[in-house]
Amino acid sequence: MRLIRSILKGGVYPPDGTRAARNHPTWNAMIPARCVVPLLQHAGSPARRHVDVGQHVEEGTVIGASHGYESARVHAPIPGVVTEITRLTLADGRESKAVVIELDGEFQQLGKSIQPRAWRGWKNSRIREEIFHAGVVGLGGEGIPSHVKYSPPENGLVEWLIINGCESEPYLSNDYSLLRERPQQIVEAVEILSRLFSPRRAVIALTTHTRAASSGLRKAITAADARVQLQHLDDKYPQGDEHTLVRAVSGRAVRGAASVTQAGCMVVNVGTAVAVYEAVVLGKPLVERTLTVGGNAIARPANLKVRIGASIGNLIEECGGFKHAPRKIVIGGPMRGHAVADLSQPVTKLTTGVLALTEDELYTVPETACVHCGRCVRACPMGLEPVLLHLMIGQGDHRAVKEAGIFDCTECGCCGFICPSGIPLVDQLKQAKSWVRHEESDDGE
Ligand code: SF4
Ligand code: SF4
Repeated sequence: MRLIRSILKGGVYPPDGTRAARNHPTWNAMIPARCVVPLLQHAGSPARRHVDVGQHVEEGTVIGASHGYESARVHAPIPGVVTEITRLTLADGRESKAVVIELDGEFQQLGKSIQPRAWRGWKNSRIREEIFHAGVVGLGGEGIPSHVKYSPPENGLVEWLIINGCESEPYLSNDYSLLRERPQQIVEAVEILSRLFSPRRAVIALTTHTRAASSGLRKAITAADARVQLQHLDDKYPQGDEHTLVRAVSGRAVRGAASVTQAGCMVVNVGTAVAVYEAVVLGKPLVERTLTVGGNAIARPANLKVRIGASIGNLIEECGGFKHAPRKIVIGGPMRGHAVADLSQPVTKLTTGVLALTEDELYTVPETACVHCGRCVRACPMGLEPVLLHLMIGQGDHRAVKEAGIFDCTECGCCGFICPSGIPLVDQLKQAKSWVRHEESDDGE
């Protein structure tokens, strides 16, 4: 198994699906009259509610304070009145309290020109504080609060700073739109992050899908005389995964519970880099993000800049509504996103996209027995053998499943995507992980 792990690179080439959205400039979505703002929009503990019903808030008022393990601040995306504190189930299944704000009053920052701040004279601790105050979290989907991720590394120095411009999933082009439209801000964010980490090398990683942004980035790098290089990678999925990206850029492999930081690498998504720029240079809290609305059921797919808390139904309407009946609505990408039935679901800091997929785009194959073709093994970017795991899970052999490296699985979905027998491998792997964890916690009692 070790040999197989070391020689396989893995990955798949799902249909792109981004063309319709990527060819148009990003537009600003309409300001919502009502925002439903969850207090859990990151990995870790939810923010603690900081406002009461009836209270007036300004754009950017802290409505959720960072509280507990790996938490992040949450800010009011619009000025207005808090009309309700509610509970909702997020697209990823987590429960969260949410603050409902009805629009009222004037915007403090929207439409105003903000003077850049002289951050180069600041200490690193001040830069980290600004990132914390702005509630910045990893916008590629993982949601780790950035002030936690950017704390001085316990396990050695950051040798590689990698700006992830590889797009996390097919169908999404929100990262490409930022690379193309905001290269100066991304390059200045690289400067800020380089100040924090003093990396030996800084790289902006692009794929075939995002490399059209190269010339704008090169101009911005030259103008700023910045020490950062562009690196072009294959556009297979999941090139944007931290583990795959670190291996492709630095040649270092990361396994199991080890983080990429332990391998001397810091990976920052381009959306997060823009949020870091806005936090540090402009003093702006994270109250909006860029996302893709796409899929063949959408009349006018687009990339939009959207206020946190806006409903996904309003975004779909803004993109012309449905031109075909959607078979599935997904928040996120088609490989790892979460199917939702409720169009009132709010946009959160982690919403990379909203997809309305037709029957043709689902590629469902009726489930049959494994034909031992080995495609899942070749596709696994972590060098696992999903077919073996599938057999071990069927036998209920949880110890063997653990020894075969199930906790190296990043749930990327490549094995299930490529399987000609339609075996729901990823669902089985997720379930087996929770069994093993459950058994281990029972043993520890
Ligand atoms: S879901 Fe897990 S087992 Fe399947 S390809 Fe991805 S990493 Fe490998
Ligand atoms: S891809 Fe599917 S059919 Fe082929 S070996 Fe893997 S589990 Fe079996």
